[in-house]
Amino acid sequence: MPKAPLLRVPFTDPLPLPKIIPTSASTASGAIAALVDFLSPSLTSSTVSPARTTHTLRSKLSTPQDRPQNGSGKTLLLTGAGISVASGLADYRGPNGTYTLNRTYRPVYFNEFCENHESRKRYWARSFLGWTNLEKARPNKAHEACGELGRMGVVGSLITQNVDSFHPTAHPHLPTTELHGYLRSLVCLSCHSEYPRSTFQTQLSRLNPSWAAFLAEMLASGALDTENPDERRKRGLKTNPDGDVDIPDAPYTTFRYPACPVCLENPPTKAGGGRARVQTDQDGAWDPSSEGGVLKPAVIMFGENIPVATKVAAAEAVDAADRILVVGSSLATYSAWRLVKRAKDLHKPIGVLNMGGVRGEDVFFGDVEDANTGRGAVRCSADVETVLPQVVKILQEMKRTR
Ligand SMILES: [Zn+2]
Repeated sequence: MPKAPLLRVPFTDPLPLPKIIPTSASTASGAIAALVDFLSPSLTSSTVSPARTTHTLRSKLSTPQDRPQNGSGKTLLLTGAGISVASGLADYRGPNGTYTLNRTYRPVYFNEFCENHESRKRYWARSFLGWTNLEKARPNKAHEACGELGRMGVVGSLITQNVDSFHPTAHPHLPTTELHGYLRSLVCLSCHSEYPRSTFQTQLSRLNPSWAAFLAEMLASGALDTENPDERRKRGLKTNPDGDVDIPDAPYTTFRYPACPVCLENPPTKAGGGRARVQTDQDGAWDPSSEGGVLKPAVIMFGENIPVATKVAAAEAVDAADRILVVGSSLATYSAWRLVKRAKDLHKPIGVLNMGGVRGEDVFFGDVEDANTGRGAVRCSADVETVLPQVVKILQEMKRTR
């Protein structure tokens, strides 16, 4: 069983390959059939009253894990990096569940970011180069399939570990909890005002002209089209063992970033009373003599606590659902793993559609009976973008002919 860190931390250990459940789900068509079986009780819930649904299911199903526990009848989806791969974003785990690229990459931790100007320069220099890829990426067929399951009433809500905002973009009608925040905004550490990341990118370009020129060059060479360090190097993007790019005439130690405009205008109050000093250089870059007005990405950084309100919303979504389907996640972060464990403890059926292994999955599937066809549990290792739209198609047909 995974250890229980209190904070978001990266987990890079290799994961064993999964045992496919039911065994027929080892082919694409078998996986589709098992997933349809898993989701179909929620299809019933969208067409009949909740009371009748519960009654019907309880009379049909015998094992404890098959019984809905006073939920809405609907399914909760929990998604991770695997669902965004087809949008061109990297999932750092390959089919074998191991970290494939840049093993030595050292992320900037929350406390470093808050306390250290040098760490923030490093973070924003990396982010400046990476943002273009995210900004031009779009949700894919799997995100649309999630939205369709929501429209059909099969899925009642969704939790995502992804910070790319593809879910709220693809299906604004389906309630989505972004467990680890979102990159589309920045938040001020002093006054908590939010700002769009796209505007910030323009400001970073203006404050760091050498980097802006380098970014334009790298976009032209295609170096940023790949996450593979060797390919990047060939196309002119060299990184050091920490994963940082150093431009010969503009090392990241010279990188500049703007201050929070609200705090500049109206400096925040210090803990001990009095106004905090917030200053910029002549171009508007945050000055290290400042005592506030630092902007942070609105993501939960490594080493940062998930806000209580987000944790409560996620736990409530688990409690309200009758079953939970994990899509494209190895559940490597404990905050996501424990939501599935919560569902398991409440005897809700669990399904996992993820290419490769999942952290501690024996806990979820150790007690599945041989007779299970997918209704009580499903575990398949298949391509999300191929499988999920097919599942939706079949469920739509079932709903139409009911
Ligand atoms: Zn502020």
